[in-house]
Amino acid sequence: MKQDKVLRSQRIKDNSNAVAIAPYQALGVCGPIITHHRAAALDVLEPCPNMSEEDRLSAIHEVLQKYQKKLAERTNHHMGYPYNLDFDFGALEGLNKFSINNLGDPFIESNYGVHSREFEVGVLNWFARLWEIEQEEYWGYITNCGTEGNLHGILVGRENHPDGILYASRETHYSVFKAARMYRMDAEKVDTLESGEIDYEDLKARLAANSARPAIINVNIGTTVKGAVDDLDRVLDILTETGYTEDRFYIHCDGALFGMMMPFIKEAPMVSFKKPIGSVSVSGHKFVGAPVPCGVTITRMRYVMALSSDVEYLNSRDATIMGSRNGHAPIYLWYTLTLKGYEGIRQDVERCMRNAHILKVMLEQCGIKTMLNDLSNTVVFERPREEAFVRKWQLACEGDIAHVVVMPNITIDKLEEFVQDYVNSRARVSIAAAKRIASEARAAEASEGSDAEC
Ligand SMILES: *Cc1c(COP(=O)(O)O)cnc(C)c1O
Repeated sequence: MKQDKVLRSQRIKDNSNAVAIAPYQALGVCGPIITHHRAAALDVLEPCPNMSEEDRLSAIHEVLQKYQKKLAERTNHHMGYPYNLDFDFGALEGLNKFSINNLGDPFIESNYGVHSREFEVGVLNWFARLWEIEQEEYWGYITNCGTEGNLHGILVGRENHPDGILYASRETHYSVFKAARMYRMDAEKVDTLESGEIDYEDLKARLAANSARPAIINVNIGTTVKGAVDDLDRVLDILTETGYTEDRFYIHCDGALFGMMMPFIKEAPMVSFKKPIGSVSVSGHKFVGAPVPCGVTITRMRYVMALSSDVEYLNSRDATIMGSRNGHAPIYLWYTLTLKGYEGIRQDVERCMRNAHILKVMLEQCGIKTMLNDLSNTVVFERPREEAFVRKWQLACEGDIAHVVVMPNITIDKLEEFVQDYVNSRARVSIAAAKRIASEARAAEASEGSDAEC
């Protein structure tokens, strides 16, 4: 439903609180202004005349020490977001001394020599093998995050099919519809099934209705909230049934979390460039884990030609979304993939899938309604009522559901602690409700008694 647009300045004027509470906030095109959870500022310390340089340095040191303690505590109580917080990059500490930047194309060196392209291309080759595409046929790069991979994949689709319509399910990550807005593409929000998968009947009907224009389809390899995997083979069948030949569609697979896990699950369907897909992207800081956000996107060389142009200033080619690119990220990814190897990652995946199942059974034993898709480590359950509990465990909530994504750093002990904490939280909420009813009843009884006296 389209709402009438109200200018940001007007909305701030209409809501006098907004300026005081969130003057800085990027306001959505629609919806209410968010006024809770305002972030605090740590002021930049100016040297002041009555403070010695030594005291100043020790004040700075103290701020950082306190912050590190907070990071450790927050890392220890994290359940909600799909980030692998278990890694040790101590061996790479010396790299902080360098401004490593892979600006431009990963495969063509620019004149800036402080780069990590050797690591980047090594990692890309690893992912190309994982998703089954020959080295000379793919193009890709290490992105800043899964979102950048989606922005790139959809852009490659759009540049190959300028008149194409974007199709994505309503449980798709918001970055995909953001891409449609940025590129001013027509987009169709396809219904979803209870599991969170795309509704195949609805997709088919929409494709049939728009058969005059090419289709750019986002296929989810694990949705953000329910961890649902869209059935790629079925989507391909639907394209055939509705008369779309390979030259009239483009498929981008958003595999932010699960795209990195599914290839390691024996009975799972394959995400593979042997099928007519255009691109796949993942987040690097999700399953692999990294101290900075990062991601990987892979597409076909023949598709990326549509958007690349040579840039003399770089002495390289411009086919990436960003200009300067994080040169540390490829080294983190290379290091982890090399250290663990294919088999190590497979074991991580297996343990996460098993632990997700264990969490589901534990919650069910405690009478908590739970859902876990077969191909997922995202355990969905009733949204906890205590906000403090949600904040303590950093749960991601949407509507009346919350989830825990069981990542490699989440041990069985941690799951046990979490379940115990959740049950206690529910008990507090129930007891408070019971007490409220009792005290209302007592008040009613008392007033009845006093009525009877007169
Ligand atoms: C997390 C996620 C993204 C975005 O990834 P970022 O790395 O946070 O930008 C995209 N799609 C899905 C399905 C996700 O879960």
